[in-house]
This record gives sequence, C-alpha cells and structure tokens, in this order.
Amino acid sequence: MIISRNTDTKSMYAALGISDSVYKFSMEILDGLKPRFDEIDKTAEYNQLKVLKAMQDSKVSEACLLGTTGYGYNDLGRETLEAVYASIFHTEDALVRPQITCGTHALALALMSNLRPGDELLSPVGKPYDTLEEVIGIRPSKGSLAEYGITYRQVDLLPDGGFDYDGIKKAINAKTKLVTIQRSKGYQTRPTLSTGRIGELISFIKGIKPDVICMVDNCYGEFVERIEPTDAGADMAVGSLIKNPGGGLAPIGGYIAGKKECVENAAYRLTSPGLGKEVGASLGILRDFYHGLFLAPTVTAGALKGAIFAANAYEKLGFKVVPNGTESRHDIIQAVEFGSPEGVIAFCRGIQAAAPVDSFVTPEPWDMPGYDSKVIMAAGAFVSGSSIELSADGPIKPPYAVYFQGGLTCEHAIFGIMKTLQSVSEAGLVKI
Ligand SMILES: *Cc1c(COP(=O)(O)O)cnc(C)c1O
Repeated sequence: MIISRNTDTKSMYAALGISDSVYKFSMEILDGLKPRFDEIDKTAEYNQLKVLKAMQDSKVSEACLLGTTGYGYNDLGRETLEAVYASIFHTEDALVRPQITCGTHALALALMSNLRPGDELLSPVGKPYDTLEEVIGIRPSKGSLAEYGITYRQVDLLPDGGFDYDGIKKAINAKTKLVTIQRSKGYQTRPTLSTGRIGELISFIKGIKPDVICMVDNCYGEFVERIEPTDAGADMAVGSLIKNPGGGLAPIGGYIAGKKECVENAAYRLTSPGLGKEVGASLGILRDFYHGLFLAPTVTAGALKGAIFAANAYEKLGFKVVPNGTESRHDIIQAVEFGSPEGVIAFCRGIQAAAPVDSFVTPEPWDMPGYDSKVIMAAGAFVSGSSIELSADGPIKPPYAVYFQGGLTCEHAIFGIMKTLQSVSEAGLVKI
C-alpha cells in the first residue's frame, strides 16, 4: 500500500507553525533577493577554493585528523592546521587551539601577550565588544590589563560612522603599542567595517607610528569577503571557532593569525614561557576543526542570506535594521531595533522555536557574566552557545535591538526568520 503524503513545501511550513500570510510575505521578499544571493554564492565559491588550496598546499593528510595526548609534542595535525590558517589569512604564523576557550579568550590572549606594563592600548573605532570591557579594565575586573599597568584610550567614530582621523592622530603617543579594531558592530548599531575601510585606517595609523601592532577582532567576519583584515595590513586577526571559521562543527576554540612575533608572544602566554607552541595536545578534536573549516565558506554564505532576508523583511515592516536591506555586508550579524523589550523577546522566542535542539523551551532575559544589563539569548544548537548556528540575542536596554546571526544552512536561517515573523505578529507587534 502506498501512503499518500502531502509533499508540498508550503504545507511543511504550515506543519511547523508558519501561517499562510507569513509564508506569502516571506516568499515575495525572497524572490526579490535572488541576485544578491547569487553574489554571495560567488564569494563562497572563491573562499571554498581558497580553503581547499590552503589544505592541499599544507599537505593535510589522514594522520592530521588524529590527535595527541599529554604534552602534545610534535602534533602533526595541530601544526598543519596552524599552517592552513596562516595560508588562508596570508600571515607568517597562526595559533589555533582548543585550549583557547572562546573569542574573548583569544582576544584577551592576543592583548595580554603583546602588551607590557607601561604600554597603551588604543581603540580608534569606539567602545569594544562588551566582554572586552573587563579584559581591558574599562569595567574594573580581576586580572584586567589595567591591573597590570596597561592604559587604554578610545576614539569614538564620528556621528556618520566615519573615522575621527584628527582624534586618532592626537590619541597616538609614545606609549601606544597596540591598536584594536573591531570589524563587526557587536552590540552596537554602528556599521560593520569592511576590510577596505580597515585597511585605510591601518595605513593611516602606521603612517603616524609604523611599529604599532594593529589587531583586528575578526569575530563574525571570516569568509564574508574574499579577503581578510590581514590582507589589508592587520598584524593579527583574532576570532572564535564557534563562529564562522569553525563551520558549526568545531566544538570549542579560538585562533590568532598574524606576524610570527605576535603569534609567538600569544603562544608563550597561552601555555608557558619556554614552552610556547610546542605543547598543547589536540586530543581528538582536529577532525572537527578541519571539517568545519572546510565547510565554513558555504556555512557563512547561508548565514549571510538569512541576515539579508531578515533585514528586508523587518525593513518592510517599518523597523530600523542595521545593516539595511540593500547595504553591502561585512559580517553575518543583523540588528533589528524593536524599541521595546517585547519585540526583542518575541523575536528571540521565534528563533528558539525554530531550533533543532531545545525548540520547546522559552528563553527569558537574565544577568549574564560579562554583560552590564540583562540579556536574552535564543539558541538551540548542537554546540552549546555556538553563534554560527541559528541564534539571536539582545541586551534588554534601549534601543531594544536584537542581534541575529547564523544558521548552518540557508534553508534553516530563512525558516528561523519566518518563525520570528510569526512570533512577532502573534505577539500583536506587527500585522502581516
Ligand atoms: C562574539 C564576539 C566576541 C567574543 O567572543 P566569545 O566567543 O563570545 O567570547 C568578541 N568580539 C566580537 C565582535 C564578537 O562578536
């Protein structure tokens, strides 16, 4: 007996709680986005080949997928993976380790290892990511750079998002040792910086002080463009493996790709003076690092498409979205300003309801370590807290913006946004 099933896609959406009107609204927007999506596919194609070439050039072998234990001396897989990252980022060296626990840790490591007491750190692009406030000591914290006598200066972006070149010139002084440039907007509504703009900023800074170290917080930016900040003059690019470059498969980790000396400093701080890169067993994790990196260009492309769909859908409903529906993209984050806590909460509940894991739980705002207001987070991920997987979060403070990112496949990213549209409309905040 043949059981008849309705294999129509629209009824599958309906079975997952998407109403006719949300379906129709979404499909119309997606139809108009085809040329944009084609461009993204071309970037993914380029980056896929770039990753493949790096793996081939570095002679990744089956043995590289295995791991070491104990001290981890002569870990072929670890050393080869670091060569692959250095090749992708066109840098002298890289540190790519499961012992780097997250993005904040990678950034803290890059800063603490390359700064010494009496040095000054400069951010020429405004306030850095929330968790870095405690690393730097903007908010007092145990073990901060401030406790070690490292001072900090900041020059905000101009109201139009441009660099305050005069202010930056004035801020650079004899103590300025390292400049930190955050590519992505993080929890702000300023524009994300393209690698082109980062390059302009770095050449301006090096024109004033050539030996200053320029570090880029590359979180969420990897593989969005054909080049990375290290192709635009950055001495170090730093990021998290549970974001873009882990491709959704890396279960932990961070990377620092850059000048040999910068990476060496970081390695001696991560392990110990005298040991540096020579130790750090990879255990059984390298297969996921390689596998995830290989998939990262297409995973990033899917996440980007979801972000562009979200921008266009919410813009059409009258909300302020950053970036807007037509702007070019330099990271995978999409901000939507709801202007009310209810909007942020409804959006996050929609994302949660779209997850493959924990879809039945209801996210609530809570006091998270490292953040100065309550934050609501939606994630039902295979890797806990992974934000290359479909996820959304928003601090419960004005302008009540929600930040959406990720989706391991384009189809899932789009479905997630459809669930938010459903949730926001069921909460009575919009009419679709
Ligand atoms: C995510 C992120 C970080 C911190 O990474 P964690 O892995 O969450 O510690 C730092 N900077 C930016 C711009 C980020 O997006």
